[in-house]
Amino acid sequence: MATVETTLRGPEAYGLARRVIKEMESAGVWPTPLNFEIWVHYLGDPEGALGREIRRILAADEPFTEGTADMLAAEYLPRSRLTEEIRDAGRVLDRELSSVSDAIAKAHQSQAAYGQTLDKAASSIETAGDGASLQAVVSGLTTATRKVQRENETLEKKLDASTREVARLREHLEQVRRDAMTDALTNLANRKAFDENLETACAQAEAEGGDLFLAVLDIDHFKRFNDTWGHQTGDQVLRYVASVMGRVAGHPRIAARFGGEEFAMIFPRESLIQVENALEAVRKEIGSRSLRRRSTDDELGAVTLSAGFAQRRPGESASTLLGRADAALYASKHAGRNRITCADPLDQAA
Ligand code: GH3
Ligand code: MG
Ligand code: MG
Repeated sequence: MATVETTLRGPEAYGLARRVIKEMESAGVWPTPLNFEIWVHYLGDPEGALGREIRRILAADEPFTEGTADMLAAEYLPRSRLTEEIRDAGRVLDRELSSVSDAIAKAHQSQAAYGQTLDKAASSIETAGDGASLQAVVSGLTTATRKVQRENETLEKKLDASTREVARLREHLEQVRRDAMTDALTNLANRKAFDENLETACAQAEAEGGDLFLAVLDIDHFKRFNDTWGHQTGDQVLRYVASVMGRVAGHPRIAARFGGEEFAMIFPRESLIQVENALEAVRKEIGSRSLRRRSTDDELGAVTLSAGFAQRRPGESASTLLGRADAALYASKHAGRNRITCADPLDQAA
């Protein structure tokens, strides 16, 4: 993203902007500010994750709707917002650190000065002839001690305030990190989190030689559902489906919203039968529940779910595994939907 930001302020800026407009026009995408932003990042970094997703959308001939743009922005553009938040946090940390180190330097100085005062007082006491000069020494000491005490209090207060500020910052950054990994509609892991988790799970399975299954789930005829009941009710169904998946996906399983009405589940270290049972449980629960629209009490009927899943083969990359799970999903759709297909299981091949 940083490279795109740089390009937009360099000699190629207007060339890129013109290309963006041209490409958007030929793809039939409206030049709204958000679409423009998305396409600038796409053409500025065509091989990036956003670029791959846009090419997939265009290749699949999916319409580039406002919903698509919102999804893409939420999934792929927050990086720049995130960078900004991190930069802000860095600035605050910088300020706190320099204020603390200033206070410590000042405390050092005044401790050194206090030491000198004590030394001087000691020799003054030795040479003091009468009560009056002793009293002068003692009152000088008292003043110096009070001053040091006050300075210590100030330092303590400053350290306290800085500690609180840094704790607040840490919490905020943690929240930002969580938001960047969560799908806003369903609260499941988002595509970015899914990609990272799948890579990690593949690397782990490769290292440990353990089992790893990946499932891709897609709501059946969801376009028809949206067309009949409206997008908002559709969104509620997405939330409902996500909640069922979330319940089934306790650690170490991961459920994610993969895109639009597509979900994915990662099953590390589980057997074929466990994975199949979990997916069947999700499919049955969703397909058997007749939904009702809360606001109007309309009977919406049940939605059904198709899924495909695949077991990772030794040495297999995340994207190849995903491709096979996707192909199995496609087979489920082809065979009549509301079913689960396993992509050529290793156990059976063996
Ligand atoms: P299939 O059984 O083959 O999967 O058919 P389908 O209609 O579910 O699939 P298609 O890919 O043709 O349409 C997906 C629809 O999902 C298009 C869009 O209306 C809907 N959709 C995608 N994202 C969202 C969303 O965030 N909210 C809502 N309400 N609908 C969405
Ligand atoms: Mg669908
Ligand atoms: Mg779909």
